[in-house]
Amino acid sequence: MSLVTGRLEILKEEDKKDLDVARISVDEESESKRKLYIESYGCQMNFADSEIVASILRENGFATTSKIDEAELILLNTCAIRENAEQKVRNRLQHLVPMKKKRQNVKIGVLGCMAERLKTKFLEEEKIVDMVVGPDAYRDLPNLINEVEDGQKAVNVFLSREETYADITPIRLDSNGVTAFISIMRGCDNMCSFCVVPFTRGRERSRDPHSIVKEATELFEQGYREVTLLGQNVDSYKWKPANEEENTITFANLLERVALINPDLRVRFSTSHPKDITDEVLYTMKKYENICKYIHLPAQSGSSRILELMNRTYDREWYMNKIDRIREILGEECGISQDMITGFCTETEEDHQDTLSLMDYVKYDYGYMFAYSERPNTPAAKKLADDIPAEIKNRRLTEVIAKQQQHSLERNQMAIGKVHKILVEGFSKRSAEHLCGRNDQNKMVVFPKENFQKGDYVNVLVTECTAATLIGKAVNEVLV
Ligand code: SAM
Ligand code: SF4
Repeated sequence: MSLVTGRLEILKEEDKKDLDVARISVDEESESKRKLYIESYGCQMNFADSEIVASILRENGFATTSKIDEAELILLNTCAIRENAEQKVRNRLQHLVPMKKKRQNVKIGVLGCMAERLKTKFLEEEKIVDMVVGPDAYRDLPNLINEVEDGQKAVNVFLSREETYADITPIRLDSNGVTAFISIMRGCDNMCSFCVVPFTRGRERSRDPHSIVKEATELFEQGYREVTLLGQNVDSYKWKPANEEENTITFANLLERVALINPDLRVRFSTSHPKDITDEVLYTMKKYENICKYIHLPAQSGSSRILELMNRTYDREWYMNKIDRIREILGEECGISQDMITGFCTETEEDHQDTLSLMDYVKYDYGYMFAYSERPNTPAAKKLADDIPAEIKNRRLTEVIAKQQQHSLERNQMAIGKVHKILVEGFSKRSAEHLCGRNDQNKMVVFPKENFQKGDYVNVLVTECTAATLIGKAVNEVLV
């Protein structure tokens, strides 16, 4: 039985629906400690933050559990990026009301972006919440928990200009033991007009590179074989050493330092902003075999007019030139994925066609696509009317998704007949006789397990595919 199935068995049907989108803390071995249950929503940064929270609270006598019924502290690490993300958290809180009535000593805290956005309003609107903690205030959790245990409600939503949690070793939650995420920076200074992140995660700041290399080295020593360096805009990573004579560390420099830890440690990163990814980064990727040839390069729209309203600071041609540069330096096979928003303010049918034609130009391997959701107090909410009806946003979204499906299939078909180096992550979801893992371009590959194990690198000849998965078998041949 998989861990996930094991955990879901203890939940009611309506809870399962919400948990489709959440990650749940695991059972830590410990009899004496107090039990902490964390449910995390949203992006990888949030999942990485929950691991920092677990680490801070372990120092304060808590051990994580996957069983909400045995926890004395329940934390929901929330996302505010779209309205439906917030609605999921509100539904989840409603489902917790009967439990809280039965076990009044259980304390419930909300963390993350929704906590930061709503602040004390959260306590007024959701009575079962005891504690509201923003993404830069996790070190204060032990004090806030004390306040709550004294019968008060507690709030800390202070946003910092320095906090990176650099010295905290995350406790890996829900880990496959092979791949891990490392936060290299926090916050965002970009102010895309639709986006709530600059308000919920504060100003951009980079983490000390020594602590990043140390964390990646320790992960490798523990058996991990892949790290993903995380930030809202990794290409603007910048670290100024205290000694003014030393050079500033750029993202390309950091990438190189992590790649040099060991050739058997794969390095990935996310997210790249098209305006900031440099040739230096692309050449560093080319230089090191263990830096995966895959770039997540959100476009958001294919229309220059809409991109300007979104304050993305590039236009369609500029984005296309960046794609050309990636293909020139890293070749046709480099994986590229997108984020796209449909139905942004004033988007016409012509703008939408520009998005579809940009997709035809790039032929992305993968995509994350969303209907525009107005977020309170963002520049777009203040200056532009959310004037595209929901049916039109959704129809355009369906068209964008269909286009991406077609391209994902075409790009996967290009992989057929070639040998790919796969890092095994575990058993395939559908069969215990098959293993799965990713190739360089981040595509999931499934193949018969033979005697291979989690953490092995295996050369797999791909023989067939769907839009989502490559299927093949292990071979002894060298890579072509
Ligand atoms: N920092 C990354 C970037 O610049 O692309 C991604 C940040 S955000 C967590 C992930 C994606 O959510 C964005 O790329 C965007 O496509 C989408 N998103 C952000 N705000 C949105 C909104 N108000 N409505 C719909 N989608 C949104
Ligand atoms: Fe939001 Fe833009 Fe920053 Fe990404 S780069 S987090 S979309 S403001």
